[in-house]
Amino acid sequence: MLICGAVSAEPIKPGVKGATKPAATPSDAAKKAAQKPALKGPPAKMLFGAVTAPAPLEVRAIGSYAKGCLAGGISLPINGPDWQVMRLSRNRNWGHPRLLDYLERLASDARALDGWPGLLIGDMAQPRGGPMITGHSSHQIGLDADVWLTPMPDRILTRQEREDISATSMLKDPFTVDPKIWTPLHTKLIKRAASYPQVARIFVHPAIKKVLCEQAGKDRAWLSKVRPWWGHYYHFHIRLACPPGAEGCENQKPASADDGCGAELANWFKMLRKAEIDAARPVQPGAKPPPRKPPLSLGDLPRECMTVLNSGGGGPIIAPDGTVPAALKAAAGKDAGPPEPHLDPEALAALKAQMSKSKPGSKPAPAAASASAADPTPASVPAPAPGEVQAASPASLLPSGSASAAPSVPLPDRKPR
Ligand SMILES: [Zn+2]
Repeated sequence: MLICGAVSAEPIKPGVKGATKPAATPSDAAKKAAQKPALKGPPAKMLFGAVTAPAPLEVRAIGSYAKGCLAGGISLPINGPDWQVMRLSRNRNWGHPRLLDYLERLASDARALDGWPGLLIGDMAQPRGGPMITGHSSHQIGLDADVWLTPMPDRILTRQEREDISATSMLKDPFTVDPKIWTPLHTKLIKRAASYPQVARIFVHPAIKKVLCEQAGKDRAWLSKVRPWWGHYYHFHIRLACPPGAEGCENQKPASADDGCGAELANWFKMLRKAEIDAARPVQPGAKPPPRKPPLSLGDLPRECMTVLNSGGGGPIIAPDGTVPAALKAAAGKDAGPPEPHLDPEALAALKAQMSKSKPGSKPAPAAASASAADPTPASVPAPAPGEVQAASPASLLPSGSASAAPSVPLPDRKPR
């Protein structure tokens, strides 16, 4: 039995409890509803984050990448011929068979055809998918996977090593890939990962995208699937399209044909510079933290996700108040890689001076404006949707004038600063 049996997928109607009171007028009820947020139950991430086994149902990716769940998930073996799964304590090596097949194929091809020594696999999905208590807003339907940019060592890692070893940052500074760390093999690996038809997107840090643009040569078609996103500097994120004909699985728009190396990338670098300056700004005493979007509740997910949670086969280990055990939370909260680099004070001052010189008045960033008009998806609109990112102040990362162009399609995760 799951404790979420008490959680309704339906919004609770105002006034149900007050049956003995005189009936409220429609305007009273409307006022009340406007004042009181609907009672939603524990955040869905607590429920899904505490489930330890898959739903014993026919396999299905249900909903969208950032609002959905997974039925009949299967786990990727922790050791394969060409891969090893990291951070086993998180129990996030679950996915749709389509994702497992893909990872096995990629690991094998990258080794045999490109000489990449093997994949270190980071987070995939939880046993029943759904929102996670830490780290991601997507990865919910078993079709997303993070792969480290660190090559697999030539031996089987112990469980403890898989918890302790940190991934390697590819960045020399917030805007530049370290040429001593990034190798042509890295470029080959990303190109290989993007080359399969079932791949919808690959997400990498903008600085990595820049290197890929520079190193792609004449064959550039694969670049259109590789899009910049915050945080992906020690791993890359693979997103597969829904299986053909899968009912209730929501694809995002196909990537546009643009290789993303022009205006889109330039706009990302503008946002990176602004984010760097914002990150260094001291917090004003008494300043209110920016408003955060409330976490998803079970009622926000497709109705079938309730069935996925309640289908038996190993319910959640969860306290009656809806909190996840501390050990599970600790395992999930540990970052897999090093923190993002920041500029030293001198370089930051130089950047500020440069930015104030090149300020184009109060006009919105032209690249963002033109890109958003053409295709409002993450493929061409680098503006993060405020609700999708988990940073402390996502709104401050938007280029001026692009807030209204925030895409409504699912986005990958962002590590908070
Ligand atoms: Zn990811």
